[in-house]
Amino acid sequence: MKIDTNCVQGGYSPKNGEARVLPIYQSTTFAYDTPEQLADVFDLKDPGFMYTRLGNPTVNYFEDKIALLEGGVGALATSSGQAAALLAILNVCNAGDNIVAVNKIYGGTFNLLNVTLRRSGIETRFVDPDADADEIEKLIDDKTKVIFGETVANPAMTIFDFDKFSAIAKKYGILLYVDNTLATPILCRPLELGANVVLHSTTKYIDGHACCVGGIIVDGGNFDFVGNPRYPMFNEPDASYHGMVYTRDCGNKAFVVKARVQLLRDLGTTMSPFNAFLTNMGAETLHLRMEKHSANALAVAKALVSNPKIEEVRYNGLESDPSYERSCKYYLGRGFGGMMTFCVKGGREAANKVMKNLKLAKIVTHVADARTCVLHPASTTHRQLTDEQLVACGIKDNLIRLSVGIEDAEDIIADLEQALNA
Ligand SMILES: *Cc1c(COP(=O)(O)O)cnc(C)c1O
Repeated sequence: MKIDTNCVQGGYSPKNGEARVLPIYQSTTFAYDTPEQLADVFDLKDPGFMYTRLGNPTVNYFEDKIALLEGGVGALATSSGQAAALLAILNVCNAGDNIVAVNKIYGGTFNLLNVTLRRSGIETRFVDPDADADEIEKLIDDKTKVIFGETVANPAMTIFDFDKFSAIAKKYGILLYVDNTLATPILCRPLELGANVVLHSTTKYIDGHACCVGGIIVDGGNFDFVGNPRYPMFNEPDASYHGMVYTRDCGNKAFVVKARVQLLRDLGTTMSPFNAFLTNMGAETLHLRMEKHSANALAVAKALVSNPKIEEVRYNGLESDPSYERSCKYYLGRGFGGMMTFCVKGGREAANKVMKNLKLAKIVTHVADARTCVLHPASTTHRQLTDEQLVACGIKDNLIRLSVGIEDAEDIIADLEQALNA
Protein backbone atom coordinates (compact mmCIF):
# COMPACT_ATOMS: atom_id res chain seq x y z
CA MET A 1 0.00 0.00 0.00
CA LYS A 2 1.04 3.60 -0.51
CA ILE A 3 2.02 5.73 2.46
CA ASP A 4 -1.30 7.63 2.74
CA THR A 5 -3.18 4.33 2.98
CA ASN A 6 -0.74 3.11 5.60
CA CYS A 7 -1.30 6.26 7.65
CA VAL A 8 -5.01 5.53 7.76
CA GLN A 9 -5.07 1.72 7.87
CA GLY A 10 -1.51 0.47 8.44
CA GLY A 11 -0.78 -1.72 11.46
CA TYR A 12 -4.19 -2.79 12.66
CA SER A 13 -6.38 -4.87 10.39
CA PRO A 14 -9.46 -6.38 12.06
CA LYS A 15 -10.51 -9.97 11.48
CA ASN A 16 -14.12 -11.04 10.98
CA GLY A 17 -16.36 -9.40 13.59
CA GLU A 18 -13.57 -7.53 15.39
CA ALA A 19 -13.60 -3.82 16.24
CA ARG A 20 -13.05 -1.63 13.15
CA VAL A 21 -11.08 0.92 15.18
CA LEU A 22 -7.91 -0.11 17.01
CA PRO A 23 -9.10 -1.09 20.52
CA ILE A 24 -7.37 0.05 23.70
CA TYR A 25 -6.04 -3.05 25.48
CA GLN A 26 -6.05 -1.38 28.87
CA SER A 27 -4.53 -4.41 30.61
CA THR A 28 -1.17 -4.90 32.24
CA THR A 29 -1.18 -8.62 31.62
CA PHE A 30 -2.36 -11.48 29.41
CA ALA A 31 -3.84 -14.86 30.33
CA TYR A 32 -2.60 -18.31 29.25
CA ASP A 33 -3.97 -21.83 29.67
CA THR A 34 -0.68 -23.56 30.44
CA PRO A 35 2.72 -22.59 31.86
CA GLU A 36 4.30 -24.05 28.70
CA GLN A 37 2.40 -21.60 26.49
CA LEU A 38 3.58 -18.65 28.56
CA ALA A 39 7.13 -20.06 28.54
CA ASP A 40 7.01 -20.04 24.73
CA VAL A 41 6.13 -16.36 24.82
CA PHE A 42 9.17 -15.70 27.05
CA ASP A 43 11.31 -17.68 24.60
CA LEU A 44 9.90 -15.57 21.72
CA LYS A 45 8.71 -18.82 20.08
CA ASP A 46 5.18 -17.47 20.36
CA PRO A 47 4.69 -13.78 19.39
CA GLY A 48 2.07 -13.30 22.14
CA PHE A 49 2.07 -10.77 24.93
CA MET A 50 3.03 -11.34 28.56
CA TYR A 51 3.25 -8.01 30.32
CA THR A 52 2.52 -4.49 29.07
CA ARG A 53 5.93 -3.12 30.10
CA LEU A 54 7.39 -5.28 27.28
CA GLY A 55 4.53 -5.17 24.82
CA ASN A 56 0.81 -4.61 24.43
CA PRO A 57 -1.46 -5.13 21.40
CA THR A 58 -2.53 -1.47 21.11
CA VAL A 59 1.07 -0.29 21.36
CA ASN A 60 2.18 -3.03 18.98
CA TYR A 61 -0.27 -2.06 16.23
CA PHE A 62 0.86 1.53 16.53
CA GLU A 63 4.50 0.38 16.26
CA ASP A 64 3.64 -1.60 13.12
CA LYS A 65 2.03 1.47 11.52
CA ILE A 66 5.09 3.65 12.08
CA ALA A 67 7.46 0.87 10.92
CA LEU A 68 5.42 0.69 7.69
CA LEU A 69 5.52 4.47 7.21
CA GLU A 70 9.30 4.59 7.64
CA GLY A 71 9.92 1.41 5.67
CA GLY A 72 11.53 -0.42 8.61
CA VAL A 73 11.26 -4.04 9.75
CA GLY A 74 9.97 -3.24 13.23
CA ALA A 75 9.56 -0.49 15.80
CA LEU A 76 9.59 0.04 19.52
CA ALA A 77 7.40 2.73 21.08
CA THR A 78 8.63 4.47 24.22
CA SER A 79 7.32 6.81 26.88
CA SER A 80 8.96 9.85 25.23
CA GLY A 81 11.28 10.88 22.44
CA GLN A 82 14.08 11.19 24.97
CA ALA A 83 13.50 7.57 26.03
CA ALA A 84 13.67 6.49 22.37
CA ALA A 85 17.09 8.13 21.97
CA LEU A 86 18.31 6.71 25.30
CA LEU A 87 17.24 3.15 24.48
CA ALA A 88 18.61 3.32 20.96
CA ILE A 89 21.99 4.41 22.27
CA LEU A 90 22.15 1.98 25.19
CA ASN A 91 21.24 -0.79 22.76
CA VAL A 92 24.76 -0.56 21.32
CA CYS A 93 26.89 1.52 23.72
CA ASN A 94 28.54 0.55 26.99
CA ALA A 95 30.76 2.70 29.20
CA GLY A 96 33.93 3.36 27.23
CA ASP A 97 32.16 3.52 23.88
CA ASN A 98 31.55 6.69 21.89
CA ILE A 99 29.16 8.38 19.48
CA VAL A 100 29.83 10.89 16.73
CA ALA A 101 26.96 13.40 16.61
CA VAL A 102 26.35 16.58 14.68
CA ASN A 103 26.40 19.54 17.05
CA LYS A 104 23.23 21.17 15.69
CA ILE A 105 20.62 18.93 17.28
CA TYR A 106 17.62 19.23 19.57
CA GLY A 107 18.60 20.66 22.98
CA GLY A 108 17.25 17.69 24.94
CA THR A 109 19.26 15.24 22.85
CA PHE A 110 22.34 17.44 23.14
CA ASN A 111 22.04 17.37 26.91
CA LEU A 112 21.42 13.62 27.04
CA LEU A 113 24.56 13.03 24.99
CA ASN A 114 26.74 15.75 26.41
CA VAL A 115 25.93 15.47 30.12
CA THR A 116 24.01 12.41 31.25
CA LEU A 117 25.50 9.78 28.95
CA ARG A 118 28.98 11.32 29.20
CA ARG A 119 28.71 11.02 33.00
CA SER A 120 27.84 7.36 32.50
CA GLY A 121 31.00 6.79 30.47
CA ILE A 122 29.52 7.08 26.98
CA GLU A 123 31.32 9.88 25.18
CA THR A 124 29.86 11.98 22.38
CA ARG A 125 32.20 13.62 19.90
CA PHE A 126 30.31 16.54 18.40
CA VAL A 127 31.05 17.64 14.89
CA ASP A 128 29.96 20.56 12.76
CA PRO A 129 27.49 19.20 10.17
CA ASP A 130 29.45 21.02 7.44
CA ALA A 131 32.80 19.48 8.43
CA ASP A 132 34.42 17.59 5.59
CA ALA A 133 34.64 13.81 5.62
CA ASP A 134 38.31 13.73 6.76
CA GLU A 135 37.52 15.80 9.82
CA ILE A 136 34.57 13.56 10.73
CA GLU A 137 36.57 10.37 10.16
CA LYS A 138 39.27 11.60 12.57
CA LEU A 139 36.70 11.32 15.38
CA ILE A 140 35.99 7.66 14.64
CA ASP A 141 37.83 4.85 16.42
CA ASP A 142 37.06 1.21 17.15
CA LYS A 143 34.84 2.22 20.09
CA THR A 144 32.56 4.37 17.91
CA LYS A 145 29.15 2.72 17.84
CA VAL A 146 26.80 5.35 16.42
CA ILE A 147 26.77 8.30 14.03
CA PHE A 148 23.87 10.55 15.01
CA GLY A 149 22.02 13.34 13.18
CA GLU A 150 18.62 14.94 12.69
CA THR A 151 16.87 15.21 9.31
CA VAL A 152 16.24 18.86 10.07
CA ALA A 153 18.02 20.39 13.02
CA ASN A 154 15.78 22.12 15.53
CA PRO A 155 16.06 25.12 15.64
CA ALA A 156 19.07 25.59 13.32
CA MET A 157 16.95 24.47 10.30
CA THR A 158 19.90 22.77 8.60
CA ILE A 159 19.19 19.63 6.61
CA PHE A 160 21.31 16.56 7.34
CA ASP A 161 23.87 15.66 4.69
CA PHE A 162 22.70 12.06 4.27
CA ASP A 163 25.18 11.26 1.48
CA LYS A 164 28.24 12.38 3.42
CA PHE A 165 27.36 10.79 6.75
CA SER A 166 25.95 7.54 5.35
CA ALA A 167 29.07 7.03 3.20
CA ILE A 168 31.24 7.38 6.33
CA ALA A 169 28.96 5.09 8.34
CA LYS A 170 29.13 2.42 5.61
CA LYS A 171 32.89 2.74 5.21
CA TYR A 172 33.48 2.01 8.90
CA GLY A 173 30.54 -0.35 9.49
CA ILE A 174 28.91 1.99 12.02
CA LEU A 175 25.19 2.42 12.63
CA LEU A 176 23.65 5.68 11.38
CA TYR A 177 20.80 7.00 13.56
CA VAL A 178 18.59 9.80 12.29
CA ASP A 179 15.98 11.68 14.32
CA ASN A 180 13.19 12.25 11.78
CA THR A 181 10.75 13.98 14.18
CA LEU A 182 10.30 17.24 12.32
CA ALA A 183 10.25 15.89 8.78
CA THR A 184 8.12 12.77 9.45
CA PRO A 185 8.07 9.88 6.96
CA ILE A 186 5.61 11.88 4.85
CA LEU A 187 8.28 14.44 3.92
CA CYS A 188 11.49 12.41 4.19
CA ARG A 189 12.40 8.74 4.69
CA PRO A 190 15.89 8.40 6.19
CA LEU A 191 16.05 4.60 5.75
CA GLU A 192 15.99 5.15 1.98
CA LEU A 193 18.88 7.60 2.36
CA GLY A 194 21.29 5.34 4.21
CA ALA A 195 20.11 5.52 7.83
CA ASN A 196 19.84 2.28 9.82
CA VAL A 197 17.74 3.45 12.75
CA VAL A 198 15.11 6.21 12.75
CA LEU A 199 14.01 7.96 15.93
CA HIS A 200 10.93 10.04 16.59
CA SER A 201 9.47 12.11 19.30
CA THR A 202 5.89 11.05 18.48
CA THR A 203 4.90 13.93 20.78
CA LYS A 204 5.23 16.17 17.72
CA TYR A 205 3.68 15.67 14.27
CA ILE A 206 2.86 11.96 14.60
CA ASP A 207 0.44 12.65 17.45
CA GLY A 208 -0.07 16.11 16.02
CA HIS A 209 -2.58 17.27 18.60
CA ALA A 210 -0.27 17.88 21.58
CA CYS A 211 -2.04 15.21 23.66
CA CYS A 212 0.63 12.59 24.30
CA VAL A 213 4.34 12.56 25.05
CA GLY A 214 5.88 9.57 23.28
CA GLY A 215 8.71 8.26 21.17
CA ILE A 216 9.55 5.47 18.78
CA ILE A 217 12.61 3.65 17.46
CA VAL A 218 12.33 2.23 13.94
CA ASP A 219 14.71 -0.56 12.97
CA GLY A 220 15.67 -0.40 9.31
CA GLY A 221 16.77 -4.05 9.33
CA ASN A 222 19.41 -2.93 6.84
CA PHE A 223 22.57 -3.19 8.93
CA ASP A 224 24.75 -6.28 8.90
CA PHE A 225 25.66 -7.02 12.51
CA VAL A 226 26.83 -10.55 11.77
CA GLY A 227 30.50 -10.82 12.66
CA ASN A 228 30.90 -7.01 12.93
CA PRO A 229 33.50 -6.63 15.74
CA ARG A 230 31.98 -3.30 16.84
CA TYR A 231 28.80 -5.00 17.98
CA PRO A 232 29.63 -8.14 20.01
CA MET A 233 26.33 -7.69 21.90
CA PHE A 234 24.49 -8.86 18.80
CA ASN A 235 26.74 -11.81 18.09
CA GLU A 236 27.33 -13.25 21.56
CA PRO A 237 24.83 -14.93 23.91
CA ASP A 238 22.90 -12.48 26.12
CA ALA A 239 23.17 -13.91 29.64
CA SER A 240 20.36 -11.60 30.77
CA TYR A 241 18.00 -13.16 28.23
CA HIS A 242 18.75 -16.89 28.62
CA GLY A 243 21.55 -17.01 26.10
CA MET A 244 19.79 -15.42 23.13
CA VAL A 245 22.09 -14.51 20.24
CA TYR A 246 20.18 -11.68 18.58
CA THR A 247 21.60 -12.01 15.06
CA ARG A 248 21.11 -15.79 15.09
CA ASP A 249 17.65 -15.82 16.71
CA CYS A 250 16.02 -12.63 15.39
CA GLY A 251 17.47 -12.19 11.88
CA ASN A 252 17.09 -8.66 10.54
CA LYS A 253 15.02 -7.61 13.58
CA ALA A 254 17.99 -8.13 15.94
CA PHE A 255 18.21 -4.44 16.85
CA VAL A 256 14.57 -3.84 17.75
CA VAL A 257 14.12 -7.19 19.53
CA LYS A 258 17.17 -6.58 21.71
CA ALA A 259 15.97 -3.06 22.56
CA ARG A 260 12.66 -4.51 23.69
CA VAL A 261 13.54 -7.68 25.55
CA GLN A 262 16.63 -6.26 27.23
CA LEU A 263 16.25 -2.50 27.60
CA LEU A 264 12.51 -1.91 27.71
CA ARG A 265 12.39 -4.79 30.19
CA ASP A 266 15.09 -3.25 32.39
CA LEU A 267 14.33 0.46 32.06
CA GLY A 268 10.54 0.34 31.75
CA THR A 269 10.19 3.40 29.50
CA THR A 270 7.01 1.99 27.99
CA MET A 271 4.33 3.84 26.00
CA SER A 272 0.94 3.36 27.64
CA PRO A 273 -1.87 1.68 25.63
CA PHE A 274 -4.00 4.82 25.95
CA ASN A 275 -1.24 7.04 24.56
CA ALA A 276 -0.62 4.54 21.76
CA PHE A 277 -4.34 4.67 20.89
CA LEU A 278 -4.40 8.48 20.72
CA THR A 279 -1.08 8.74 18.90
CA ASN A 280 -2.18 6.09 16.40
CA MET A 281 -5.33 8.11 15.74
CA GLY A 282 -3.20 11.19 15.18
CA ALA A 283 -1.03 9.28 12.71
CA GLU A 284 -4.14 8.44 10.65
CA THR A 285 -4.14 12.04 9.37
CA LEU A 286 -0.38 12.63 9.30
CA HIS A 287 -0.27 12.81 5.49
CA LEU A 288 -3.04 15.43 5.34
CA ARG A 289 -1.61 17.51 8.14
CA MET A 290 1.96 17.56 6.81
CA GLU A 291 0.79 18.93 3.47
CA LYS A 292 -1.26 21.64 5.20
CA HIS A 293 1.54 22.50 7.67
CA SER A 294 3.90 22.80 4.69
CA ALA A 295 1.60 24.95 2.55
CA ASN A 296 0.85 27.26 5.48
CA ALA A 297 4.49 27.56 6.47
CA LEU A 298 5.59 28.45 2.95
CA ALA A 299 2.96 31.22 2.81
CA VAL A 300 4.02 32.52 6.24
CA ALA A 301 7.73 32.40 5.36
CA LYS A 302 7.13 34.39 2.17
CA ALA A 303 5.17 37.01 4.11
CA LEU A 304 7.89 37.31 6.77
CA VAL A 305 10.71 37.61 4.23
CA SER A 306 9.16 40.77 2.82
CA ASN A 307 8.48 42.31 6.24
CA PRO A 308 10.90 45.19 7.02
CA LYS A 309 10.94 44.39 10.78
CA ILE A 310 12.45 40.98 10.13
CA GLU A 311 16.22 40.50 10.00
CA GLU A 312 16.30 36.90 8.77
CA VAL A 313 13.95 33.99 8.03
CA ARG A 314 15.01 30.35 7.91
CA TYR A 315 12.55 28.08 6.15
CA ASN A 316 13.76 25.12 4.12
CA GLY A 317 11.12 25.74 1.45
CA LEU A 318 12.41 29.23 0.57
CA GLU A 319 14.64 29.19 -2.49
CA SER A 320 16.96 31.60 -0.67
CA ASP A 321 17.40 29.20 2.27
CA PRO A 322 20.92 27.76 2.70
CA SER A 323 19.38 24.29 3.04
CA TYR A 324 16.92 24.63 0.13
CA GLU A 325 18.95 22.59 -2.33
CA ARG A 326 19.56 19.83 0.16
CA SER A 327 15.93 19.66 1.22
CA CYS A 328 14.86 19.36 -2.43
CA LYS A 329 17.35 16.53 -2.82
CA TYR A 330 16.31 14.53 0.24
CA TYR A 331 12.67 15.45 0.74
CA LEU A 332 9.96 13.63 -1.16
CA GLY A 333 8.33 16.62 -2.83
CA ARG A 334 5.34 16.92 -0.49
CA GLY A 335 6.49 20.10 1.21
CA PHE A 336 9.07 21.31 3.71
CA GLY A 337 7.20 21.01 7.00
CA GLY A 338 5.82 23.56 9.43
CA MET A 339 8.96 24.61 11.28
CA MET A 340 10.77 27.88 10.70
CA THR A 341 12.74 30.46 12.60
CA PHE A 342 12.96 34.19 12.22
CA CYS A 343 15.06 36.91 13.80
CA VAL A 344 13.47 40.22 14.71
CA LYS A 345 15.37 43.49 14.21
CA GLY A 346 16.11 45.05 17.60
CA GLY A 347 17.59 42.11 19.50
CA ARG A 348 16.22 40.01 22.33
CA GLU A 349 13.92 42.78 23.57
CA ALA A 350 12.19 43.21 20.23
CA ALA A 351 11.76 39.46 19.88
CA ASN A 352 10.21 39.36 23.34
CA LYS A 353 7.76 42.12 22.48
CA VAL A 354 6.60 40.42 19.29
CA MET A 355 5.97 37.20 21.19
CA LYS A 356 3.95 38.98 23.87
CA ASN A 357 1.74 40.59 21.24
CA LEU A 358 0.83 37.41 19.40
CA LYS A 359 -2.76 36.29 19.87
CA LEU A 360 -3.47 33.26 17.69
CA ALA A 361 0.05 31.87 18.14
CA LYS A 362 0.69 30.94 21.76
CA ILE A 363 4.00 30.75 23.60
CA VAL A 364 4.44 27.08 24.44
CA THR A 365 7.21 24.55 25.00
CA HIS A 366 6.18 22.56 22.01
CA VAL A 367 6.37 22.39 18.26
CA ALA A 368 4.76 20.48 15.49
CA ASP A 369 1.14 20.23 16.50
CA ALA A 370 -2.04 21.49 14.89
CA ARG A 371 -1.91 24.89 16.64
CA THR A 372 0.53 27.60 15.63
CA CYS A 373 3.00 28.29 18.42
CA VAL A 374 6.21 30.14 19.14
CA LEU A 375 9.15 29.75 21.48
CA HIS A 376 12.28 31.70 22.32
CA PRO A 377 14.95 28.96 22.35
CA ALA A 378 17.75 31.04 23.91
CA SER A 379 15.77 31.57 27.12
CA THR A 380 13.87 28.26 27.25
CA THR A 381 14.75 24.96 25.52
CA HIS A 382 18.39 25.87 25.03
CA ARG A 383 19.04 27.95 28.16
CA GLN A 384 21.34 25.26 29.59
CA LEU A 385 23.77 25.92 26.74
CA THR A 386 26.65 28.36 27.04
CA ASP A 387 26.84 31.35 24.66
CA GLU A 388 29.43 29.51 22.56
CA GLN A 389 27.23 26.42 22.39
CA LEU A 390 24.27 28.61 21.39
CA VAL A 391 26.25 30.04 18.51
CA ALA A 392 27.35 26.52 17.52
CA CYS A 393 23.68 25.47 17.49
CA GLY A 394 22.79 28.48 15.34
CA ILE A 395 20.66 30.24 17.97
CA LYS A 396 20.73 34.02 18.19
CA ASP A 397 19.06 35.85 21.07
CA ASN A 398 16.54 37.56 18.76
CA LEU A 399 15.56 34.25 17.16
CA ILE A 400 11.96 33.08 17.44
CA ARG A 401 11.06 29.53 16.57
CA LEU A 402 7.71 29.36 14.84
CA SER A 403 5.78 26.14 14.42
CA VAL A 404 3.10 26.82 11.85
CA GLY A 405 -0.16 25.00 12.50
CA ILE A 406 -3.01 23.94 10.27
CA GLU A 407 -5.26 26.97 10.79
CA ASP A 408 -5.94 29.35 7.89
CA ALA A 409 -2.63 30.77 6.64
CA GLU A 410 -4.11 34.27 6.28
CA ASP A 411 -5.04 34.34 9.97
CA ILE A 412 -1.54 33.21 10.99
CA ILE A 413 0.08 35.87 8.81
CA ALA A 414 -2.28 38.58 10.11
CA ASP A 415 -1.44 37.64 13.70
CA LEU A 416 2.31 37.86 13.05
CA GLU A 417 1.93 41.19 11.23
CA GLN A 418 -0.13 42.82 13.98
CA ALA A 419 2.43 41.64 16.58
CA LEU A 420 5.33 43.01 14.52
CA ASN A 421 3.51 46.34 14.04
CA ALA A 422 2.38 46.70 17.67
C1 LIG B 1 10.85 17.03 21.16
C2 LIG B 1 11.98 16.37 20.48
C3 LIG B 1 12.69 15.32 21.08
C4 LIG B 1 12.38 14.83 22.47
O1 LIG B 1 11.15 14.22 22.52
P1 LIG B 1 10.19 14.18 23.83
O2 LIG B 1 9.01 13.45 23.32
O3 LIG B 1 9.93 15.59 24.24
O4 LIG B 1 10.95 13.42 24.88
C5 LIG B 1 13.72 14.73 20.37
N1 LIG B 1 14.06 15.16 19.14
C6 LIG B 1 13.42 16.18 18.54
C7 LIG B 1 13.84 16.61 17.18
C8 LIG B 1 12.36 16.82 19.18
O5 LIG B 1 11.74 17.85 18.58
